[in-house]
Amino acid sequence: MSTIYETLGAQSANFIRGTHRLLIGGRWVDAQSGSMFDVFDPGTGEVVARVAEGDAADIDLAVQAARRAFETGDWAKMKPADRTRLMFRLADLLEHHGDELAEIEAVDNGKPLSVARRGIAGTAEMLRYMAGWATKHNGESVNVSVPGEWHAYTTREPVGVVGQIIPWNFPLSMAIWKIAPALATGCTVVLKPAEQTPLNALRLGQIIQEAGIPDGVVNIVTGFGATAGAALAAHHGVDKIAFTGSTETGKRIVQAALGNLKKVSLELGGKSPVFVFPDAKLDLATAGAANAIFFNSGQVCSAGSRLFVHKKVFDQVVEGVVAYGDKLKVGHGLAPDSQIGPLISSQQKKRVESYIRNGVEEGARRIGQNPLRGDGGGYFVPPTVFVDTTSSMSIYREEIFGPVVCAMPFDDADVERIAAEANDTELGLFAGIWTQNLSLAHKLARRIKAGSVSVNAHMVNDPALPFGGYKQSGWGRERGREVLDLYTSIKSVAINLD
Ligand code: ADP
Repeated sequence: MSTIYETLGAQSANFIRGTHRLLIGGRWVDAQSGSMFDVFDPGTGEVVARVAEGDAADIDLAVQAARRAFETGDWAKMKPADRTRLMFRLADLLEHHGDELAEIEAVDNGKPLSVARRGIAGTAEMLRYMAGWATKHNGESVNVSVPGEWHAYTTREPVGVVGQIIPWNFPLSMAIWKIAPALATGCTVVLKPAEQTPLNALRLGQIIQEAGIPDGVVNIVTGFGATAGAALAAHHGVDKIAFTGSTETGKRIVQAALGNLKKVSLELGGKSPVFVFPDAKLDLATAGAANAIFFNSGQVCSAGSRLFVHKKVFDQVVEGVVAYGDKLKVGHGLAPDSQIGPLISSQQKKRVESYIRNGVEEGARRIGQNPLRGDGGGYFVPPTVFVDTTSSMSIYREEIFGPVVCAMPFDDADVERIAAEANDTELGLFAGIWTQNLSLAHKLARRIKAGSVSVNAHMVNDPALPFGGYKQSGWGRERGREVLDLYTSIKSVAINLD
């Protein structure tokens, strides 16, 4: 086991070192099979914890517990304002335990502590935003035109037991993005964290108990995708499945959900364009474009992995992005000066490196070279910029999920052509536009086939802004009022008053 514990605070060290079971019906239990799996520190490649390996049998128990909590007991009877209060308490507790949660995230996922710490603040805000909706997400009265006198209205009812499968890139935020709307609407949850990063979901489970959220409302089953995840997606006792992850796995979720036609929402991959026009504030645009791809080592579904720069400023902007990448301190998440961390796993490192090799073999030119440090067995890949790419190259077409960007010049401001080029992808999650010309920004934003667009910023992470994909980037929207539609069913009631 790792020596990393010495670098950690006592609380996170004790937690990581502890026994990690499944949370089912308010009790911490071993997997039915008794199996455990290893959790690795991506910054060193060492095993840091062993976690219960849940599979179909455990998922079944968790779904039963979630069903009981949904149909009977305190949660089923709870008033919306009381759910709000519990969610506020949970938000406060996340902040209270923020340092510990950030350390766990840095070890589990590899991201720098400072980034993890900001993420905790974001999760608390997401909870508070969603908590407010518990008392406000109403049905409405409806004017009907059929003969007679009527009172007609709609109600919004919680959809029921929700399965939630999350990825490893933002372990705690992804858990909260999923759990918050479920709690606000009165659903109950079976959460399946990514096998690479189960630790903070488990710590969250303890904090959920500390907040006083009733037993069985949130159940947490750690395990692998092909077993625990697939069982959750296929389970007939689950009313809705919410998934964030790769487009490939998203398609499997849809197939698995067919059996009982459960509701499905998907937040999948991206190959998002960033546009820099010559009138943009170039220093901000350059830093924004660099951050769009290097933040979280590019392991972000909305990463700006295709950079379109007007030819008048192409060299300047691309050199700036390269210089930004070269200066970034790549290192272990717990090293105080690290700015970006390792990739999540040795498989992911191999995958990203093979994209980089393919890019070079296919004739793209790689520029810049970050002086990688702190390798020591961790899964590090340097920030990488490619020019001279073509639209047929795999680095241009496919989601790499690493710190690798393709930079392309465009030679006029024909908005139709620029949009058509950017839209030539099966994905459509996000686009970033840098220009002072607001007319142009509006025109381009309208033409881009993506669920979110930011102008003079990269990805505005506000809980009020809906987030999700066009095309193969997903179904439905997370965040904002829109996510509540995914967690509620509308019932129309028509009463004949004659
Ligand atoms: P990656 O390949 O990068 O791990 P995935 O999209 O496969 O990304 O993983 C995201 C989440 O989906 C994880 O929690 C993983 O365990 C889960 N998962 C993977 N395969 C399946 C599957 N066949 N059914 C359900 N969940 C799955």
